[in-house]
Amino acid sequence: MPPIDTNERSDNYAGHPAPTPMMAQYIEIKAANPNSLLFYRMGDFYELFFHDAEVAARALGITLTKRGKHMGADIPMCGVPVHAANDYLQKLIALGHRVAVCEQVEDPAEAKKRGSKAVVQRDVVRLVTPGTITEEALLEPGEANSLAVIARAKADGDALALASIDISTGQFTVHSTSIDTLSSDLARLAPRELILSERLEDDDRIKMMLSAVECVVQRQSAALFDSTKAAQALAQFYGVQTLDGFGQFSRSELSALHGAISYLKKTQFAERPALSRPQRESAGAFMFIDAATRANLELTQTLAGEKKGSLLRAIDRTVSGGGARLLAAHLSAPLTDVAAIENRLDAVSWSLDQEALRTTLRRALASLPDMPRTLSRLSLNRGGPRDLAGVASGLTVAQTIAGHLLPMQDDAVSPFGFPKTLRALSAVLQAIPANLHRWLTEALADDVPILARDGGFIRAGHDAELDSLRRLAKESRQIIAELQATYAHDTGVKSLKIKHNNVLGFFIEVTALNADALLADKERFIHRQTLASAMRFTTTELADLESRIANAGGKALEIELAHFERLRKAVVDAADTVRAIANALAQLDVTQALATLAEEQGYARPKISDGLDFAIVAGRHPVVEQSLRAAAANPFVPNGCDLSGVETGHLWLLTGPNMGGKSTFLRQNALIAIMAQMGSFVPAGSATLGVVDRLFSRVGAADDLARGRSTFMVEMVETAAILNQAGPRSFVILDEIGRGTATFDGLSIAWAAIEHLHEKNGCRTLFATHYHELTALSQKLDRLKNVTLKVREWEGDVVFLHEITPGTADRSYGIQVAKLAGLPQAVVDRARDVLHQLEDQRQDNALDKMIDELPLFSATPQKGLAPTGKSAIQSPALTALADINPDDLSPREALDALYRIKSLTGGEQT
Ligand code: ATP
Repeated sequence: MPPIDTNERSDNYAGHPAPTPMMAQYIEIKAANPNSLLFYRMGDFYELFFHDAEVAARALGITLTKRGKHMGADIPMCGVPVHAANDYLQKLIALGHRVAVCEQVEDPAEAKKRGSKAVVQRDVVRLVTPGTITEEALLEPGEANSLAVIARAKADGDALALASIDISTGQFTVHSTSIDTLSSDLARLAPRELILSERLEDDDRIKMMLSAVECVVQRQSAALFDSTKAAQALAQFYGVQTLDGFGQFSRSELSALHGAISYLKKTQFAERPALSRPQRESAGAFMFIDAATRANLELTQTLAGEKKGSLLRAIDRTVSGGGARLLAAHLSAPLTDVAAIENRLDAVSWSLDQEALRTTLRRALASLPDMPRTLSRLSLNRGGPRDLAGVASGLTVAQTIAGHLLPMQDDAVSPFGFPKTLRALSAVLQAIPANLHRWLTEALADDVPILARDGGFIRAGHDAELDSLRRLAKESRQIIAELQATYAHDTGVKSLKIKHNNVLGFFIEVTALNADALLADKERFIHRQTLASAMRFTTTELADLESRIANAGGKALEIELAHFERLRKAVVDAADTVRAIANALAQLDVTQALATLAEEQGYARPKISDGLDFAIVAGRHPVVEQSLRAAAANPFVPNGCDLSGVETGHLWLLTGPNMGGKSTFLRQNALIAIMAQMGSFVPAGSATLGVVDRLFSRVGAADDLARGRSTFMVEMVETAAILNQAGPRSFVILDEIGRGTATFDGLSIAWAAIEHLHEKNGCRTLFATHYHELTALSQKLDRLKNVTLKVREWEGDVVFLHEITPGTADRSYGIQVAKLAGLPQAVVDRARDVLHQLEDQRQDNALDKMIDELPLFSATPQKGLAPTGKSAIQSPALTALADINPDDLSPREALDALYRIKSLTGGEQT
């Protein structure tokens, strides 16, 4: 069936009955929310109609039914129970849908006053989108859930700004960026949803970049991003007169901030999430890691999309949701400022020494509820008593931890100094809002329900009126029991019971056989109902009691809800303080976790400088090392890497057998740089690192067919990005460049890439290859060093020692590895024959000759590509050309000069 256009609002129902008032209301609301599935509240269900119903039924695997007709056709319908709506929302959001939640916004009794056919007023109260969810069930505890906003204000030319909001925790940041760095920034933030102005879509480069973004992208009207209205919108949102205290923002940043705030208003309607003030991040504060490098290095997930096997999983020892999220954020954004990195390392070092305290703190942190998310739900009016209890117990943990940290500030207790970051976070914890904490602890019962409307969450003894109402309800039960005994006695019916149901309320029930005893006393027992085997009665005193109990219950709930609202408001008013405490606890968790990791794995504190060192002694791959240990396999073989100076080489060309450990070595050095700059100890005997400002990797390859790129094309795009962007402070790892094409094409590309990296980029580089011919380049390139992985041959088989050593490999032992992998023996034997023949034919000296004869970049000398070092080339033709002033030459002299220059280039005179 074709989708019915529920956006139509025409009254042209010629030949068909007009829609029912309810359907007319639905159509109107749906028309206002065309891009969302509409959850239309009807009693205890959210119903979906028309095309929405078809989409949702398919996505959720629920039954599609129908309800009435519209324009002569059946109306498809499906529904989800309100109490289970979160589960369904989760599925729909995960599939990238948006959901508009439409509630009844007036009491049905009010609607009835307008006539029996009047429809209860309904309105959309919230748009649920992937980047704006807050429900515990919809969120991953250890992962941020952010909404990114890209904006550009004309005044800033090409500069862009990127804002990021996590409304589940209240984090709000913004920074300037450019089209070249945007995809790296997005890869770092890994947003769930991205919004941008329709206008930006005209930019082809942005459009192309968006095609690679994995999250949901929403185009929004340009008016939402108006930078001139940003100040006013932000001031209004934060309830301040001026933004002076917020710092300075560029026009584009203001535009992004405005876009973010406007989108929140658009999706959250009346509710205002408790956001922190926007933090401006400065450009270059974080190591630049492009999206491909992040993916290849498997920082937060493996190439197969698994968490297991990622660096994050291997190093995460946090014990709280907030800590896990912060660790992931630190890993995604390694710092570039030496002092900032040292501050983090100081805290880890100190915690490493304080073993007993660390155990105590971690035990306390493990019981920490997710305070930022709790806070966010409360501020959006989606929280319940359990969220209040979460804040209370979070503050209790903070108080306990503050108590442990306080003595540490004493120099006598910490003779080597209490590190700056810990001192700062301890100060935040010492200042917990004691009144709020006391109030919450005194007011809330030990065991509280999720929903406020369930009642029973205010502690007995906290409110005298509530206590007396509860007592009444409790005593009433006692009175009923007594009444039952009296009636049974008076009527002589021992089996007489007082029962309750929603239709009759309290009633007396006797079996039909015993009914006569009650029917005899009509004054007292009023008949209510006759069933097949029983008869039901009431009495005036029972009806009285009933209304007293009902009133008491209702009144008690009213009082509890009023308490809830007061407590909720108090928590929201203290949101900034509570959030600062939650952040301090998350930071403490990360520090303790990294110290625990360093101790458990025997990691070393890296030495960080502003220089160009890269000296790692006995480095290990953090993930491979742990998995070898878990498998009780041979231990990981540590390897050093020194790219610090001319003698050690800035570019290591790594050859070696298949399965020798080349890729592992490349990656481990990149991971060590990342870990060091995120403020962690590193898997090495020692490490001295000059800050890496940009990290690039080209390792592993996969098709990107969705974007029309073959494996080789992906490889070349990534290589191009590196050659175009890497600078002297960058660190680059390249694995098997050029392997996806014909041998000579591949070899030539790898050759030219190495020359470019050595001569032009000048970055610290590890280059692994099976083109052994490339090792001859060390004769020409003074900062290139050949290293290889040792193997031992034993009875025709190969034993991998995984040990890096200076030198070159003469073979790849591919056939031996193929044999290990289980290739049929006949194929292995045949491959050996072919190899021998090929080797016999090879002209061994051909490459050496080429090295001697082919000057660097001689094919196409390029502007600005002046070679240095051994490879510097003085062109006599260019020198002669530079000496000529064309204006001084006669036509004859000009022709002579041309012949002379031609002869200097080695061309033949004709
Ligand atoms: P290929 O050329 O076939 O891609 P490679 O040289 O890149 O191979 P790796 O993939 O790095 O080899 O390593 C192969 C396996 O060897 C790894 O999966 C790991 O289990 C093991 N390995 C690598 N390095 C070490 C090491 N230093 N110590 C112990 N085992 C190692």
